[in-house]
Amino acid sequence: MTELLQNSILEICYLIASVTFILGLKMLSSPDKARKGNLMAAYGMGLAILATILFKEELSSDKMLNYGLILGGLVVGTVIGMRMALKVKMTAMPQMVSFFNGMGGACAAVISIVEFDHISHTGSFEMGMLIVIILGLIIGAVSFAGSIIAYGKLEGKIGDRAFPGGQIINIALLIAILGLGVYMAMMDAPTPMYLYIVLGLSLLYGILFVMPIGGADMPVVISLLNSFTGVAAAFGGFLYGNQAMLTGGILVGSAGTILTVLMCTAMNRSLTNVIIGSFGGSAAGGKDGEQGTIKEITATDAAILLAYANKVSVVPGYGLAVAQAQHTVHNLEKLLEDKGVDFNYAVHPVAGRMPGHMNVLLAEADVPYPKLQEMEDANGDMASTDVVLVIGANDVVNPAAENDPSSPIYGMPIIKALDAKNVIVMKRSMGKGYAGIENELFFHDKNRMLFGDAKDSLEKLIAEVKNL
Ligand code: NDP
Repeated sequence: MTELLQNSILEICYLIASVTFILGLKMLSSPDKARKGNLMAAYGMGLAILATILFKEELSSDKMLNYGLILGGLVVGTVIGMRMALKVKMTAMPQMVSFFNGMGGACAAVISIVEFDHISHTGSFEMGMLIVIILGLIIGAVSFAGSIIAYGKLEGKIGDRAFPGGQIINIALLIAILGLGVYMAMMDAPTPMYLYIVLGLSLLYGILFVMPIGGADMPVVISLLNSFTGVAAAFGGFLYGNQAMLTGGILVGSAGTILTVLMCTAMNRSLTNVIIGSFGGSAAGGKDGEQGTIKEITATDAAILLAYANKVSVVPGYGLAVAQAQHTVHNLEKLLEDKGVDFNYAVHPVAGRMPGHMNVLLAEADVPYPKLQEMEDANGDMASTDVVLVIGANDVVNPAAENDPSSPIYGMPIIKALDAKNVIVMKRSMGKGYAGIENELFFHDKNRMLFGDAKDSLEKLIAEVKNL
């Protein structure tokens, strides 16, 4: 096969892969097409990898050695990745995303190191090339170190550690990294020593940048680091003149940035506040302490209220995912619908611990998608709802977001459960949610608490409804 033909096939494969990434990403925005979209992008990536192995000329310097290493790497990576993906619980998804993201960052940094080694040998230092290499190294290393710390925090292996003057040290480090990077790019022939100093400082910055951030703010940070990795991968695409890598990197970079902004907007917080604030920590403001008396309800009474209601709306939250009660709530839904109850789910955009968490959780239990109401629509229907069943949700129904300017969640849009005729909150205790603040809804006259693990309580409700 001629070199021209080989290159043309490679370019066409990269083009097809790029198209699958774009279409796949588009399909991820609708729950019924998300699985297909994910698969489509994965096939595109598979095609790009295969085409590179088969048609990239540079790979053929020591073909047998390269093929052995590549295939070995593919097998090891596939086995580990598949095992992790099959075993992971939905609630542990953010840390897995963080871990994989860290691997992407590490790849970007390694690409920069290898390319630097390559140009050091050929002596062809060009400023443009050096800038791309240095930026890929810095962003990849920060993303790798930060993601691994984020993974450790979410797994509960690393605690939040803020130290006095930490922000100043971080800023000084960043200035040192960028300064050294610029100096390196302007040198005629920088030695590897500079590269490794930049690498070391970037790794340190990644660790120190994520270390003090409240563990509960990790999903936002992971999304931000994810966008960093995308940008670093895009630099890799530049280096190799590889369009698929460039498109993939840009898509990950922009999608990660949009997601970070959306999460911050939905929580009504600025990115700076996420990065330097300690949301969910002891510093959280707002009214705290005893706010009145709470009223409990038995499963029997709750079942009667639900079974004789015209309209019931469930507000799912993080606790529903912890209890893995998605199938059980779907069973309650079917049972009540058989009794003529109009049943739906009011889904808050940041309920749970990652965007779309509740949509994915309920889709897993085959809850029909039209039953999932977005927050604005759900709030519009609240006045005509007889019972709102809040299952393992807390912050997303906290009225302090609307009426307490001193609250850390003030301004965050909420599901207005109190607009309904009755509210039942299902949770294990008076424990706080992500923001670490009291919820006055629990003390409201309209509300009854049904204490217990969400799954156990739902099973009791189902048994009671069946007895009616
Ligand atoms: P919250 O974290 O506010 O509250 C969850 C509640 O679930 C807790 O109060 C807990 O109370 C209860 N719970 C835990 N386990 C169980 C169980 N087994 N059975 C029953 N209840 C249980 O969750 P929300 O979904 O209301 O709010 C999400 C929060 O996460 C928001 O503050 C949001 O800003 C934040 N966030 C969301 C992101 C996203 O993308 N979705 C990203 C980053 C942050 P108890 O211990 O008493 O049972």
